[in-house]
Amino acid sequence: MVDSSARFFRSKGIAPMGSFTHLDYDVAVIGGGAAGVGAAIAAAKTGARTILVEAGPMFGGELLSGMSIDGVLNGRGEWIVRGVAEEIFAECRKMDGFIGPLHDFRLICYVCCDPEVMKIAVARVLSRYGVTAVLYTQVTDVVTKDGALKAVVLTHKDQRTFLSARHFIDASGDGDVAAMAGAPAEISDAKGELQPISLMFRMSGVENGPLLEFVRDNATSLAVGESEAVRAGRTDEELAKAIYDQGQPTVFFRGNGPFLGGAIQRGEMFPTALIMIMPTSRARKEVCVNATRVAENISGLNALDVSRAAPVLMDQVWRTAEFLKKNCPGFENASFAGLAPRVGIRETRRIMGEYVLTGEEAGAARKHPDVITKGAHHIDIHQDGIRQVRIPIANGGSYDIPFGCLIPKTISNLLVAGRCISTDRIANGTTRMMGQCLGTGHAAGTAAAMCVDAGYDDVRQLRVAGLQDALRRQGAVLGGTH
Ligand SMILES: Cc1cc2nc3c(=O)[nH]c(=O)nc-3n(C[C@H](O)[C@H](O)[C@H](O)COP(=O)(O)OP(=O)(O)OC[C@H]3O[C@@H](n4cnc5c(N)ncnc54)[C@H](O)[C@@H]3O)c2cc1C
Repeated sequence: MVDSSARFFRSKGIAPMGSFTHLDYDVAVIGGGAAGVGAAIAAAKTGARTILVEAGPMFGGELLSGMSIDGVLNGRGEWIVRGVAEEIFAECRKMDGFIGPLHDFRLICYVCCDPEVMKIAVARVLSRYGVTAVLYTQVTDVVTKDGALKAVVLTHKDQRTFLSARHFIDASGDGDVAAMAGAPAEISDAKGELQPISLMFRMSGVENGPLLEFVRDNATSLAVGESEAVRAGRTDEELAKAIYDQGQPTVFFRGNGPFLGGAIQRGEMFPTALIMIMPTSRARKEVCVNATRVAENISGLNALDVSRAAPVLMDQVWRTAEFLKKNCPGFENASFAGLAPRVGIRETRRIMGEYVLTGEEAGAARKHPDVITKGAHHIDIHQDGIRQVRIPIANGGSYDIPFGCLIPKTISNLLVAGRCISTDRIANGTTRMMGQCLGTGHAAGTAAAMCVDAGYDDVRQLRVAGLQDALRRQGAVLGGTH
């Protein structure tokens, strides 16, 4: 770390306005969600002096929402993302904050973590590897030269800082850094549709016994067996019984089934595709609920539009909580336990990279020689809040994500990880899951640190076979029968 340096600014050809300080690292990771946390841990583990910059007050991003962490297992229940992800889960488990693996008996297997424990688990693992972890700090500008990213501008309350690094990783979810640096990006498709925004919430004191009996006895109200691989010849009633036998509140009430559909028709509930319930804490008998939707093609990049939708989402939260307390066995004595830290944004920029993964490849469980992590969640595109595209991955298996999806086309020393990686809109419906964000983060962090170690200025100099060897040594799953 060095202090404000006139020489540094002169070397970049910049005349700084006001007071700036200067930081310098081997690897700088922007955005502290699943992808950024995964990237920073991996880069530091691989030996790079690493800094992680996060705009918010906690590390974890959507990992703190309480939602199930999807895409770490395939539909057959095989682990397809391990490595850094597993290390974070192990930390949660130590603090009694891990539940899983669980099957939803609809399409996927997933794990659940207590989001309050997750806050501490993530911070502990970052500090174990000596990552410089900076909160309350937004990247608001970049300095580029000859196709390389030289520095990003950090904006804090009391000052601005130039952060220079040999390699950068954009894990901002929205691809902010890559876009500011001039990388090509796509948003939506020709129709301009954007996935709805939602607000997660939690309820505690939920009694599993009565809830699961209700589930077992009301199969027609559930979304179950949506792929042949999961259904495996079973009836809806048998799948509802399987949820009951699993013993955890992993429940999807269909918007067009008698229980939720009836409430929508009566005007007791707003129109929505599903109420999804997943466990967050055994100790607090707590679940996370995903039901709310504002589907007006709102851009997650526009704070004014997102802010306008927030009160609507909060009303929907309260209506759903009241509906469950009044109508759903197990919720009679439950209490509202809290909102996710922020409105959830499903879709913004996809940064166009050296390889663009397509929905067709993902759905077909296509394998790729340049694989650096895998994906397995169905293609999940929420449309107007009521309709939803859900395309299972072939045979309950997994598809490969190639290294080229992390390399933005026009910049030599920047990788992207997480929701903003290079895919078409359909593939983004599956690569946006937290399992894939942890996996692409892990790969990006290791790759960036290896480039620093080898003295490569351009990430394209890195041999993918060497990166794959390193990732396997760090526990990543790149092959097998998955
Ligand atoms: C409503 C909803 C439901 C979902 N359901 C599920 C589910 O059930 N299971 C599942 O696995 N996935 C689910 N997803 C998808 C998944 O949660 C996200 O796509 C994923 O977590 C994105 O991870 P990320 O690390 O790329 O980004 P994020 O988790 O968004 O993290 C990005 C971080 O970067 C920070 N940041 C952004 N810009 C800047 C900047 N300029 N400077 C500094 N910091 C910045 C942000 O504050 C944030 O903390 C859901 C998403 C939504 C919105």
